Amino acid sequence: MEDNKFFHSVYLNKDLCNGCINCIKRCPTQAIRVRKGRAVITSQYCIDCGECIRICNHHAKRSHYDCPDILGNYKYTVALPAPSLYSQFNNLDDINIVLTALIHMGFSDVYEVAAAAEIVSEASRKYIEEHQDQWPIISTACPSVVRLIRVRFPNLIDHLLPINPPVEVAARLARKYAMQKTGLSSEDIGIIFISPCPSKVTYAKSPIGVAKSDIDGVLAIKDIYPMLLPLMRTAKAAPMDLARAGRIGVGWGSNGGEAAGIITDSYLAADGIENVIRVLEDMEDEKFTNLSFIELNACDGGCVGGVLTVENPYVAQAKLKKLNRYLPVSVTHSPPDLSDEELNWSEEVEYLPVYRLGSSMKESLMMMNRVERLCQKFPGLDCGSCGAPTCKALAEDIVRGKANETDCIHILKDHIHSLTSSVNSLVNSAPANEVNGNDYRYIFKQYLRKVLSDMSMLDATLNPSKDDDIDEEE
Ligand code: SF4
Ligand code: SF4
Repeated sequence: MEDNKFFHSVYLNKDLCNGCINCIKRCPTQAIRVRKGRAVITSQYCIDCGECIRICNHHAKRSHYDCPDILGNYKYTVALPAPSLYSQFNNLDDINIVLTALIHMGFSDVYEVAAAAEIVSEASRKYIEEHQDQWPIISTACPSVVRLIRVRFPNLIDHLLPINPPVEVAARLARKYAMQKTGLSSEDIGIIFISPCPSKVTYAKSPIGVAKSDIDGVLAIKDIYPMLLPLMRTAKAAPMDLARAGRIGVGWGSNGGEAAGIITDSYLAADGIENVIRVLEDMEDEKFTNLSFIELNACDGGCVGGVLTVENPYVAQAKLKKLNRYLPVSVTHSPPDLSDEELNWSEEVEYLPVYRLGSSMKESLMMMNRVERLCQKFPGLDCGSCGAPTCKALAEDIVRGKANETDCIHILKDHIHSLTSSVNSLVNSAPANEVNGNDYRYIFKQYLRKVLSDMSMLDATLNPSKDDDIDEEE
């Protein structure tokens, strides 16, 4: 994958899209439109949550990520398995079996994201205690949530926890330790994250809070899973001693795990993008001033619910809970040489006003007025037939010059109806001359009759009479 400031992992395979409009309603940022029978993603609105991948039955929405060949690009590779990887396997009672299988797969070493999560938990506890003026502090582990706040909830940006997510801390420490251990240069070492979701693929290319991520490549859990299964059978016979995380770190894989590591009672943990939006709206209304911490995960069940996993999120949650029974509370603590750069954000997160209509306040107000006037013309059914998720979204598209009023099927219907009436009166008022077939008035009238016939058929389709309606009571 190339470095790209505006990289998005989620994309559309146009050949597979049939324009069914299922995805436009599910997108939490209204980033999708259906135009000319195909979905289109407006890049600046997309937060890579993966909801459209989840909902598309035609598999037209997909995610970019690397293939395992990437290991060949480096002299030394370190796998960063997400805690949610452990939740994919049946009856797993020793994480070392998964980690050993990763070595058998070709990785030179492993560094658990769960181990870094324990370091982040410690740092977060301290930060929350020392910054009570910022309460409730919002978790920044889910990149889609941070992106959502950046475009839709600018008033909440000051509540974001300015600590790198565990995957970034893991990547930075893994690189440092690999360089110390091997003497190789940074370019020869590949830090490869094994991800449950597209959001973290995007993070690796276009991180938030830091200028550049230390992650060199991202593999999807669903690609690695079938490769690991046979290797785990061998690994089980002689597992290496590689695991460095306890319950606190592994718990981050499912919803509520991060908050449990903060060790506070005054927290809230929400999962699923719609619940996340509801919590953020309530937070804007200052409903949670009694809380110190809010954990938010875009996927149902937390990271175990990511669209790049294979297991049902609720089954995965249960498996993680069972695995946690075999683990100590915490294993990895902040190392004494942990630098500020390894742990904390080095860049501020800024509001991205992507939804702003005009380039100035005056222009935006004028455009908003036009949106309101258009909304009054539309039926307010939010039917999606126009390819926009709501009537208001269509009105905004029109004001931005990206759609037309007649994209609304109801407005089009009225247009056809009135045009049919006009042509009808024109036909009736045109003088008849059926004697001379070459008379232009005769030809014109015949032409009008043909147009009228076509339009009447269309009109009848769009404006069915009461008799044509299905009477449910009969
Ligand atoms: S859900 Fe969206 S991407 Fe999938 S086929 Fe329908 S319109 Fe296309
Ligand atoms: S990934 Fe999420 S935000 Fe992006 S287009 Fe799909 S549903 Fe919308």
